[in-house]
Amino acid sequence: MYDIEKYYNAKTVSEAVTLLKEHPDARIISGGSDVLIKIREGRMAGTSLVAIRDIPEIKGIEKKENGDIYIGAGTVFSHITADPVIQKYIPVLGEAVDQVGGPQIRNIGTIGGNICNGAVSADSVPTVFSYNSLLHIANEEGGRIVPVREFYLGPGRVDLHPGEVLTHVVIPHAEYEGYHGHYIKYSMRNAMDIATLSCSVVSKVNIGEQVLEDVRITFGVAAPVPYRCTETEELLKGQKLGEELYRKLENSIRSEIHPRDSWRASKAFRLQIGGEIARRALIRTVELAEEEQGGEHA
Ligand SMILES: Cc1cc2nc3c(=O)[nH]c(=O)nc-3n(C[C@H](O)[C@H](O)[C@H](O)COP(=O)(O)OP(=O)(O)OC[C@H]3O[C@@H](n4cnc5c(N)ncnc54)[C@H](O)[C@@H]3O)c2cc1C
Repeated sequence: MYDIEKYYNAKTVSEAVTLLKEHPDARIISGGSDVLIKIREGRMAGTSLVAIRDIPEIKGIEKKENGDIYIGAGTVFSHITADPVIQKYIPVLGEAVDQVGGPQIRNIGTIGGNICNGAVSADSVPTVFSYNSLLHIANEEGGRIVPVREFYLGPGRVDLHPGEVLTHVVIPHAEYEGYHGHYIKYSMRNAMDIATLSCSVVSKVNIGEQVLEDVRITFGVAAPVPYRCTETEELLKGQKLGEELYRKLENSIRSEIHPRDSWRASKAFRLQIGGEIARRALIRTVELAEEEQGGEHA
C-alpha cells in the first residue's frame, strides 16, 4: 500500500500555500499519477501530502479579453483535448496531451503535474515551450511569473521553491495568433509508452510569398531538459519554403540536439529520427497554414 504520513486537502491556492509553509516536508499532489508511483516504489515513502485537486481556481481554460489563454495547472489532459478554446486556437496542445499514457491517466494527470515533475519525456512540455508560455506561480510573497524556457534546471529539477504552487500556464496572444503547430511523439509502442524522442514545431508561414516567417522547434528527450533548437530556428527564419529548407532543417537539427544512448534507443538512432520528425512536423504546419490561408484566398 501507500506509505503516506499525513494528507491535507487544500480548497484554495492560498490555503495550499499556507499548508505548505506549515508543513515544509509535505509534497504537492495533484492527479497523483507521478507522486503515487514514487511513494509506492519507496522513493517518496513516508511523505506528507498537500492535495490541490479540489481547488476550482486552477482548473479549466479561459481566453482573456487581451487574447491570452490561461490553462489552469490542475486541468486534466482529457479536458484540455476536448476544450473548445484549445481546439480553436492551439489544437496541437490538445493533440499532444492526447498521446499521454492511456485514457485513465489522461483523466487524472494534469498539465501542472506534467510540467512540475520535470521529466524530459513529458508530452505537454515541447508544445508549451514552442508557444513561449509563461508559468504563473503562487507563493507567500504574492507570486511570480517564469518563462517556461527558464523553468527546467536539470533532469527532474525545476525552478519551484518550497511553498510554491504552479497555478496557470499562460500562452500569450502574440505567441499563438497566426501560428500553426504539430507534435510528433516517437515511441516504441503507440499507446502506454513514454517518448523515445518527441518534437513540437510551431510556425508562421506566408503562403502567398511562400516564406517561413517564424519557427520554433522544441525537442523532448534530446538533451537533459526540454530543448529549444534556437540555432536551427534562426537558420530557417525568412527562408523560402521547399525541399532545400527541409534538408537544411534536418541537417541542422542533427548537429544541434544532444540525445544520449539509453536502453530505449541509441544516440545515433535518435539523431536520425530527430531530423525526420522535425521535418515532418514542419511540413505539417505548412499544410495547416495552406489549408487556412488557401481558404482565406478562395
Ligand atoms: C501508466 C502511466 C503512463 C504514463 N504515460 C505518460 C506519457 O505517455 N506521457 C507523459 O508525459 N507522462 C506520462 N505519465 C506521467 C504522468 O501521468 C504525467 O506526468 C502527469 O501529467 C502528472 O500529473 P499529475 O497531476 O498526476 O501529477 P502528480 O503526480 O500529482 O505530481 C507530479 C509532480 O508535480 C508536482 N506538482 C503537481 N502539480 C503541481 C502544481 N500545480 N504546482 C507545483 N507542483 C505541482 C508534484 O509535487 C509532483 O512532484 C504516465 C504515468 C503513468 C502512471
